[in-house]
Amino acid sequence: MLGARSKPPVCRKRRRAANVTNDAISNPNDTPNVTPNAAPNEALPPGATIGILGGGQLGRMAALAATALGYRCHVFSPDADAPAKEVSTAQTTAPYEDRDAARAFAAAVDVVTFEFENVPDETLAVIAKGAPVRPGVDALHISQDRAIEKTFLGDNEIGTTPWAPIITAADLDPAAATGFPAILKTARFGYDGKGQVRVDTADDLAAAWAEINQVPAVLEGFVDFEREISVIVARSTGGETRSYVPVDNVHRDHILFTTTAPSTIDATIAEAAQAIADRISGALNLVGLLAVEMFVTHDGDILVNEIAPRPHNSGHWTMDACAVSQFEQFIRAVSGLPLGDPARHSDAVMTNLIGDEADQWLKFLNEDGACLHLYGKTESRPGRKMGHVNRLSPMVRPAP
Ligand code: AMP
Repeated sequence: MLGARSKPPVCRKRRRAANVTNDAISNPNDTPNVTPNAAPNEALPPGATIGILGGGQLGRMAALAATALGYRCHVFSPDADAPAKEVSTAQTTAPYEDRDAARAFAAAVDVVTFEFENVPDETLAVIAKGAPVRPGVDALHISQDRAIEKTFLGDNEIGTTPWAPIITAADLDPAAATGFPAILKTARFGYDGKGQVRVDTADDLAAAWAEINQVPAVLEGFVDFEREISVIVARSTGGETRSYVPVDNVHRDHILFTTTAPSTIDATIAEAAQAIADRISGALNLVGLLAVEMFVTHDGDILVNEIAPRPHNSGHWTMDACAVSQFEQFIRAVSGLPLGDPARHSDAVMTNLIGDEADQWLKFLNEDGACLHLYGKTESRPGRKMGHVNRLSPMVRPAP
């Protein structure tokens, strides 16, 4: 708890842990005079340090937003060249399983947040002893595992795709009752379509499970959806929520290709989607940002596909089309600041730049109305997110 902390943020930056580099250490006098010991619901003062677990582009853009608000960021990632490390004040390079490094990291920061959810439970426990964890250990735990997540959503009467857990071979037959075609997904560590196999008949199920090395999985009925949408909602330390408008998402090769803001769905479905995101954030008792990916069926039903308690690729459009981007909103929420206005001032289409698509950077810079964001990744690989472009246009429908 911030309130229980005995040392002000200003002291913490002078401690150096193993494998930690800290630009501020070389100039300790360059430290703003900050108010110590903010209570849990109090605002973290400028000059305090936000710890970010994970060093990818989400962490990078969050760190840039935090910097604009006067915070320092300490990034923990096993990758020495992580994009977020380039724009942070302090860095820890260690495996996520390294508890000593996690302990030192937690001691060096004022709050810990995450740019991805696959942090080992033991590491989370160590960190939670040393610093407030936002979005919260429970929210992370639930969203780490598809089976736990879907059970949680079901318990909260939120619609999901039909699904069944597969943990042992004995689960294969009962799971087949979900129906086919279906998608087999690893329960953990899946993203951008990784760890997913389409299964067309019950006879293919055992082979599909073997293909993902018989790890714990969920079998999901294939949904012939009308469209995919997502909602990003922020929830403050005091429980206030504010959400961005629902957006339409198009995937290519299982990777998000474009996000169009706002979604063109009926206003009633948009409201229902925002209400679902709001309810989930409350049920998780989340502090921070929650992205909720949903399928809208041809009948207008909403099925939640996946949740992520952090900034999300489908919220990148907010960087240029809203006064307060998802990254600033995220930092505001985890720092105990008032949430900002999520209204947009423009419509936007976000296009991901995957692999060598980012080589066209000069072309995007020459295009009026296009806002280019590159992630500073040194190596381009097929399927790797290298940047994105937001193309703005005047609002067709009034905000929200
Ligand atoms: P996920 O990793 O679960 O977000 O899945 C990646 C993408 O695969 C989704 O955004 C959908 O386009 C597609 N997908 C995943 N699950 C299903 C499903 N049950 N039915 C139809 N399409 C799906």
